[in-house]
Amino acid sequence: MSAPFPIIRDADRVRRLAALPDVRPRALERLREGAVGVVGVGGLGTAAAPYLAAAGVGKIRLIDPDVVHATDLGRQILYGPGDVGRPKVEAAAAALGIQAPATVVEAVVARLGADNGAGLLAGLDVIVDGLDDGRPRDWLNAYAVETGTPVVFGGALGYEGQVVVVAPSGPCLHCLFGSVADAAADCAREGVLGPLVGVIGSFQAAEALKLLMGLGTPLRGRLLQIDLFGGGIRVLPFAPRPGCAVCGGQGVPRRG
Ligand SMILES: [Zn+2]
Repeated sequence: MSAPFPIIRDADRVRRLAALPDVRPRALERLREGAVGVVGVGGLGTAAAPYLAAAGVGKIRLIDPDVVHATDLGRQILYGPGDVGRPKVEAAAAALGIQAPATVVEAVVARLGADNGAGLLAGLDVIVDGLDDGRPRDWLNAYAVETGTPVVFGGALGYEGQVVVVAPSGPCLHCLFGSVADAAADCAREGVLGPLVGVIGSFQAAEALKLLMGLGTPLRGRLLQIDLFGGGIRVLPFAPRPGCAVCGGQGVPRRG
């Protein structure tokens, strides 16, 4: 009996990536050895995760407490009608398993919080924020400051979205916004343009890949803002805020 799929060699999967300037063999090894957490597998997470898997990231840990709803299908393109009612992490893990069988995908049905966060994120090299709730973002920012684990924050609402990286030697999210505990995005009330989450999630995937491979300039200390209504994009630099309640105005310390 023949195999159901042709054997895809690792070298073939990453050939276009490997052809890029600055991508050295060691960078590809770091991808294969790397572990990325995707916290929240909604619009942003379902956009980011497939690019991470496609690029050959060794391990992806999906964390989300929710099931797929029919109202998700207009923008969370990893899911189909048959997934409605299924835990998002299970449906997403199944899709990623077909897309990139060599990537280890861990599906964790859980809501990230102060009580379980450190355990859920243990062993991860980079974290992608796909949350739609402010309170766990505050915790995630504090975790980045405390542990030096880079977090790629993203948000999308209406026609506008933003991306920023909190990583060693850069300011933290609290330096920029203060507490975001009450700044939950209410897509149900305000709506969201489907491709917006794809754009923001793709930016987040690119930042995560860059951080893993040590490539380019991360969006650290720079807030990327995208407006799909008017068709605009801008980047706003910001510095550690003196007296910041989370990083003390010192930014994120270097690891080790
Ligand atoms: Zn700070």
